[in-house]
Amino acid sequence: MKVLCIGRNYRDHASELENPVPEEPLFFLKPESAVLEGGGAFHYPDHTKELHYETELVVRIGMNGRQVGKEEALRYIAGIGIGLDLTARDQQRALKEKGHPWEKAKAFDASAPVSEEFIPLDRIPELSNLPFTCYRNGELVQSGNSGEMIFSFEDLIVHLSSYITLAKGDLIFTGTPSGVGPLVVGDRLECWIGRRSFLNLFIE
Ligand code: ZN
Repeated sequence: MKVLCIGRNYRDHASELENPVPEEPLFFLKPESAVLEGGGAFHYPDHTKELHYETELVVRIGMNGRQVGKEEALRYIAGIGIGLDLTARDQQRALKEKGHPWEKAKAFDASAPVSEEFIPLDRIPELSNLPFTCYRNGELVQSGNSGEMIFSFEDLIVHLSSYITLAKGDLIFTGTPSGVGPLVVGDRLECWIGRRSFLNLFIE
C-alpha cells in the first residue's frame, strides 16, 4: 500500500506559499509507514522546528488500475475520508531551494494521519461539492470544498495511474486549501467532513 499526495491543488493555498498554479497535477509519495490510521497521539519529530498541518480529502482506492480513463475513474474509488499531510515546512523550504526531493519533509513516520472511516460514493450526494474543515484547539483554521480543487478526483486518478499502477487500499491525499499553519506540543486538531468529525490528532 502506498500514499500518493497531490501538491498545489487549490489556488488559494498555492498563492499563500507563493507557488505558481500548476498546469498538471503535482504529486509525491509517502510510504506505508507514514500512515497513522485513526489519528490519536502524534509525537512532534526531532528533525523539524516548523511542523505544519495540511488538511486534505483522501481517496481510498478500491481496485487495482493502470492507465484509467476519465469516464471509468470513479469506479476505482472505495470511499472518501480525510487526512493530514503533516509537513516539516523548514525542511521542505531548504529542499526546494536546492531542487532536492521532498521526502525528508513529507514522508517521515506518522506524517499521514487519516480517518478510519471512508464514505462510500453512494452516500455522497454531490462529489463535486463536499465541504471539509479543520479546527485547531477548537478554532476553525481550514475550510475547503472538493469543488475548489483545480484537478478533480477523476483527473487525479487518470493522471496518477498513467505513471503508477494504483492498488486496492492505496490512498490519495488530494491537496490542501489555504490556512495551513504550524503546530506546537499540546495542540489538538479535529477534521470534519460536512457536519461530522472524522479525525482527531493530539500533538505531544
Ligand atoms: Zn499536502
